[in-house]
Amino acid sequence: MDLNYSAEDREFRDNTRRWLEANVPTQELATLEERKAWHRKLYEAGYVGMLWPREFGGWGASPMQQAIVQDEMARVSAPPPINGLGIGFIGPTIIVHGTDWQKQRYLKKMLTAEEIWCQLYSEPNAGSDLASLRTRAEDQGDHFLVNGQKIWTSSGPISDWGILLARTDSKVAKHKGISCFLLHMRQPGVEVRPLRQITGSSLFSEVFMTNARAEKRDLIGKLNQGWEIAQTTLGWERGANSLGRVTRYAIAFTQLVRAAKELKRGGRPLFDDPVVRAKLGRIYADLEVQRYAGLRVLSALLKSDSPGAASSITKLSYTEFEKRYYELALEILGHRGQLISAREEFEEVDTSSGEPGTWATAFLWSRAGTIYSGSSEIQKNIIGERVLGLPKEVRADRLKA
Ligand SMILES: Cc1cc2nc3c(=O)[nH]c(=O)nc-3n(C[C@H](O)[C@H](O)[C@H](O)COP(=O)(O)OP(=O)(O)OC[C@H]3O[C@@H](n4cnc5c(N)ncnc54)[C@H](O)[C@@H]3O)c2cc1C
Repeated sequence: MDLNYSAEDREFRDNTRRWLEANVPTQELATLEERKAWHRKLYEAGYVGMLWPREFGGWGASPMQQAIVQDEMARVSAPPPINGLGIGFIGPTIIVHGTDWQKQRYLKKMLTAEEIWCQLYSEPNAGSDLASLRTRAEDQGDHFLVNGQKIWTSSGPISDWGILLARTDSKVAKHKGISCFLLHMRQPGVEVRPLRQITGSSLFSEVFMTNARAEKRDLIGKLNQGWEIAQTTLGWERGANSLGRVTRYAIAFTQLVRAAKELKRGGRPLFDDPVVRAKLGRIYADLEVQRYAGLRVLSALLKSDSPGAASSITKLSYTEFEKRYYELALEILGHRGQLISAREEFEEVDTSSGEPGTWATAFLWSRAGTIYSGSSEIQKNIIGERVLGLPKEVRADRLKA
């Protein structure tokens, strides 16, 4: 891959920078309506749905241009667009597996955040072992009747639609009896109960479906093809382009170093302590590794349409890094971490608590990274089996031989 910017890329970066400097909100966006208005502005400028085909309301831009926008947005701490789940991986799933009707009906409104989307996959007893899910969808002739419970549904409280996995055949192997639907969240059979998180906010929820209705036209792909469709969603969810994320870490790192120079222990700046310096040096090297991992994803995206199973490597790497990073930050900042802003942007919208983006909240959020979209242990299993082609089970007697 050629990692140099072309003249066209450089011009695109200059234009993006100018646009952001003129338009980035100067005040915090406190309400969902304010977030939607900012999202709409970004969309109209061509900075949302950049990789989506033009026929579905996207901008047909290159992954390089998208990386430039993410980088520039991080540089000025611009609030991120909303509907991240929809635009990041539910929309792309509809583009790959959906019917023409579904594409026309849902995609544009998703891009403009007119309709917010959530992902109804995990259940109380089906997280890592997603194929064990028990929510049922029964064919009623003209529609499906849905009964069951989902949990950890991000953006559930503000969503209009959800992508749903439900069992449609319980007599076949568990992976083979699952179908994928688009479910209207604003109907009497769907009850959303917000869950309060350790950060104090309620970004996710439990969702109870009692005789909820999924229309026939909202089945994605074929009946019982849900497992295959879920793999498309998860590939995008795990492997999303992460260069903007690296820029945010780098900005925060500069702030951390500044804090270490200002804060004193025993009358001397923390930065003078060789142990603190060594730890900062190590985490900086780690941060550079993340930058190159981000470039690797960008390179893969420039060559193919979908990140695939290798996206598990990126997900494992950056989420484990985030935990080390924020642990170190709190170790250095101590109780001040509760007060100092980390200029961290959270991908999801919190409209309930006005949660401050302190180092402490960033630390708490980093604990979620190695769980969502499949835990670190599950990513390691995927890397072993699907990327490296290792055998699923190693028999003890063969190990001895
Ligand atoms: C912030 C956040 C947002 C989320 N948003 C959504 C959402 O929008 N929609 C949605 O559907 N879900 C969502 N989830 C749920 C997430 O996908 C699950 O939490 C995750 O898949 C793990 O499942 P679980 O919580 O049931 O844990 P379990 O599967 O019960 O796992 C418990 C522990 O056992 C380990 N383990 C389990 N199986 C294996 C194995 N085979 N080998 C080795 N170790 C194993 C796990 O790594 C983990 O440490 C979200 C989760 C978080 C934290």
